[in-house]
Amino acid sequence: VRDKRRIIRDKTSASKHIPDNLLPRVAIIGRPNVGKSALFNRLVGGNRAIVVDEPGVTRDRLYGRSYWGDREFMVIDTGGVITLSKSQAGVMEELAITTTVGMDGIPLASREAAIARMPSMIEKQAVAAVDEAAVILFIVDGQAADIEIADWLRRNYSDKRIILAELDGVEEDGNYIPAIAIVGRPNVGKSSILNALVGEDRTIVSPVSGTTRDAIDTEFTTEDGQKYKLIDTAGIRRRAAGASAGSTTETLSVKRAFRAIRRSDVVALVVEAMACITEQDYKIAERIEKEGKACVIVVNKWDTIPNKNHQSTTYYEQDVREKLRILDWAPIVYCSATHGSSVDKIISAAALVEKERSRRLGTSILNQVVREAIAFKPPPRTRGGKRGRVYYTTQAAIRPPTFVFFVNDAKLFPETYRRYMEKKLRSDAGFPGTPIRLLWRSRK
Ligand code: GDP
Repeated sequence: VRDKRRIIRDKTSASKHIPDNLLPRVAIIGRPNVGKSALFNRLVGGNRAIVVDEPGVTRDRLYGRSYWGDREFMVIDTGGVITLSKSQAGVMEELAITTTVGMDGIPLASREAAIARMPSMIEKQAVAAVDEAAVILFIVDGQAADIEIADWLRRNYSDKRIILAELDGVEEDGNYIPAIAIVGRPNVGKSSILNALVGEDRTIVSPVSGTTRDAIDTEFTTEDGQKYKLIDTAGIRRRAAGASAGSTTETLSVKRAFRAIRRSDVVALVVEAMACITEQDYKIAERIEKEGKACVIVVNKWDTIPNKNHQSTTYYEQDVREKLRILDWAPIVYCSATHGSSVDKIISAAALVEKERSRRLGTSILNQVVREAIAFKPPPRTRGGKRGRVYYTTQAAIRPPTFVFFVNDAKLFPETYRRYMEKKLRSDAGFPGTPIRLLWRSRK
């Protein structure tokens, strides 16, 4: 795969036209973001032929014809992510229970055994693709998750040819570069943080097109080669003494932060160690949650806290947690921008929460977590003796992770129970640093 010149697209050698369904199939498998789609696009070029859109899953299986020398084959990619809107997710209520067949005519139900054993980061779609493929192209990048997938392939598909491949810096999801917005009140140290990260001359070196007047975007590459876009807001003006809550400057600056949040994937909400957390901070926090953005709370000027010890950190954390309750899932990073200390932690924390926000949970694991949560604490019974039942749960979207619960009657799940379920999902399946959404759909 490293030698791209060896991918020959010699159409003359494939002069005899073989129908799509008779071609041998090659499935591209690997954990999310490993580069499957990029490889697929490279192999298939403009020959993207068929999209198999299966009920109950949120990923498409893409098929495309490709050539290698004089051999022609069909490549299957499972990497196309579709983000469902709320109304689309509702349609899945009907779809989730329908049994269908794949392109090869194998009923999906017969795949349930393999699906039940599949690693969490492998989708049902990928199982279908592997089932019908003669050759599996297994893309790795040396992460622990690769081993899990390898074990699964070995256990279930030892009869197939598996080719291990490592890609040379191609990215899944086209040109997706996560955007990190740095927001917070004036003087908390946003500019200092940016300077520590990318240097003073950032606005001159690499302005990104589409730059708005109220924020400056800078592209930034970490040591391990991951690109990010930093959205630098001019800050939110501290409420001047005597100024009313509706004062124009404040309204403008809050709006500016809101716009930056909207364009971002991760928000670094910067607060100052010695200062109090204000209503403005809370407004921003609320907006981050509402917009479904990942978040890192940055407590800057940590150097100004005298005699720090474990106790003072705990005390400080409690205070931040209490005042920014709505972000109780966000990690806290303590740093000193002007001393250059721990600023890198902001980026590593941002990288982590961004991954969580883009994470998919395998359907079987998800349903297992939900079943256990219900067994531990069933939904309350109404006075009439009715009780909520969950039929099936599916992750309908990422960014942020969105789960749809298909239930007998959504009204039988009170707010307290929904919060309990969210807590259980978080404690059993993670998702630190990102909001998650639970949608409850009645099946009449
Ligand atoms: P912004 O308005 O949020 O962009 O804040 P600035 O980056 O302009 O910083 C405001 C002031 O705080 C400047 O005088 C900085 O030198 C100072 N400052 C920023 N970060 C730190 C820090 O970590 N420790 C200390 N002691 N001062 C800091």
